[in-house]
Amino acid sequence: MANTTKAKVVGINGNMVTIEFEGSVSMNEVGYVNVDGKKLRGEVIRIRGNKAQMQIFEMTQGIKAGDKVDLIGDLLCAELGPGLLGQTFDGLQNPLPLVAEKAGFFLERGVYVDSLPRDKKWEWTPTVKPGDKVLRGDPIGSVPEGPFTHKILVPFDLLGMYTVKKVEKAGEYTIEDTICVVTDEKGKDHKLKMAFKWPVKRAVDCYAERLAPSEPMVTQVRLIDTFYPVSKGGTYCIPGPFGAGKTVLQHTTSRNADVDIVIIAACGERAGEVVETIKEFPELKDPRTGRSLMERTIIICNTSSMPVASREASVYTSVTLAEYYRQMGLHVLLLADSTSRWAQALREMSGRLEEIPGEEAFPAYLESYIAAFYERAGIVKLRDGNIGSVTIGGTVSPAGGNFEEPVTQATLKVVGAFHGLSRERSDARKYPAIDPIISWSKYKSVIREDWVAYARKVFLSGVEVNQMMKVVGEEGTTTEDYIEYLKSEFLDAVYMQQNSFDEIDAAVSVERQQYTFAKVLKVLGSDFELADKDSARNFFNQMRQKFIDWNYSLWKSDKFKKAEKDVDAHFASANGKVRDEVSAMLKDGE
Ligand code: ADP
Ligand code: MG
Repeated sequence: MANTTKAKVVGINGNMVTIEFEGSVSMNEVGYVNVDGKKLRGEVIRIRGNKAQMQIFEMTQGIKAGDKVDLIGDLLCAELGPGLLGQTFDGLQNPLPLVAEKAGFFLERGVYVDSLPRDKKWEWTPTVKPGDKVLRGDPIGSVPEGPFTHKILVPFDLLGMYTVKKVEKAGEYTIEDTICVVTDEKGKDHKLKMAFKWPVKRAVDCYAERLAPSEPMVTQVRLIDTFYPVSKGGTYCIPGPFGAGKTVLQHTTSRNADVDIVIIAACGERAGEVVETIKEFPELKDPRTGRSLMERTIIICNTSSMPVASREASVYTSVTLAEYYRQMGLHVLLLADSTSRWAQALREMSGRLEEIPGEEAFPAYLESYIAAFYERAGIVKLRDGNIGSVTIGGTVSPAGGNFEEPVTQATLKVVGAFHGLSRERSDARKYPAIDPIISWSKYKSVIREDWVAYARKVFLSGVEVNQMMKVVGEEGTTTEDYIEYLKSEFLDAVYMQQNSFDEIDAAVSVERQQYTFAKVLKVLGSDFELADKDSARNFFNQMRQKFIDWNYSLWKSDKFKKAEKDVDAHFASANGKVRDEVSAMLKDGE
């Protein structure tokens, strides 16, 4: 419905424009400012009497008082349909040219391009017949999209029950063609196409039931899956100082995570970094299929040189696309890097609105916005019985790496797992630099709980010894304590750390994690005949090296078997004797 309201610009403050209108305007309504023959898109963020403030998603140079504003009577929407996979979009879902050779590859302002190809023909197969009853979000047919069966769904905004009146037979159609006609309860017909729109700030809720996240979303990063796991439909955050490895970790995860689709929201980071992502991805192979990783990826990007308001749009657009694919019974991982840039955009806009600031000048509603975003994650049961999920992982880049700041704190309140990267670990090149002391997770590990608890206990007691040694020196430490310290270093070096640049070590299956962890636990839970600190240090140094050789050999290969024998022989060389409690646990786990 076009809005007949007349509006014009009366004030400009950075990316915020104040308009005066005659008629009605609604909150979050989209409008276009007409400037120099171009239309710049924006969104109403506050209404006071006959004035309203809009945030403009484009550079605002040239806008002046008196410029005409067209309000469209609609909220900011994403277009949902086949053709999203493999694309790179900006925050407003404009496809970006894939060749990102030049720095200026982003679209000229005021240019809006169709999100989905209009002329592409899709191989449609109907799955409903006349007389069938359908509800919003139900599949009515499908088309192949890359490696997936893309279900064509009843648009999410069609409330109530519909009866299928007519279905087009199998064949090739574009997203502009009507492929189905349904009749509502009042007898009115609705033509359905393969694509439709949905307001990005509204969570998609067409499922039958929300389930509790319980199945692991395997990342193949040992430190995550074993110690700080994430479940499908869960949420996690990766705060860390600049350069600690947040982006590298997200990229590794996007490659190896056990999900169908990955959506990357590259938000507000330096242009160079984002360009790298866009260039790198199409060249990467999907380790599961050997095909291009991009086939199951969507990138929404937005650099620090783009207007701050579009960061907000990109965060919401990306989660909407994720929910759309979840509605087809697929498992989707949304990685947002970095949510701090989004929060900074909110702060900037709040300042312009002269709202009463909260902590560190962030708006008072920061927490509720962050919570609402992460709440859109979830594992759901659809009406056809299929299960789909959206898992959200967001990085936070706190200034100076201080986790006490508002964005980290607000995020920690709502997520299910915390992977805190530390400067100390990244400086020591201990990757992934997830700090095992401060990190936590509420989800279920791929390894037995008692095994993990035991290893964690040994780790922490070794860390304690290390702290103490810094005061009293090595001489002041008993051999027994010193071995405790060596054990924790061993666990760290052979299991927590992982070389993301080694083809084999980069991604470790659950089966292999379970197998290797049993061996690690055996070492941690044994007593050795080691006479003094020197022989202990020697023993663990060699054990570490043998273990790393084992890690670098192909799962179950001859090399793997030989390396394992070496580890076992080394264990026996110091008369390793497994403690009873550990022996019982290991037996239990067989
Ligand atoms: P952030 O996003 O936290 O600012 P990056 O992910 O860009 O940091 O990482 C910065 C640099 O640290 C990388 O360019 C790389 O050299 C190094 N690095 C990060 N993670 C790893 C890793 N897992 N293995 C090896 N080097 C890494
Ligand atoms: Mg980064």
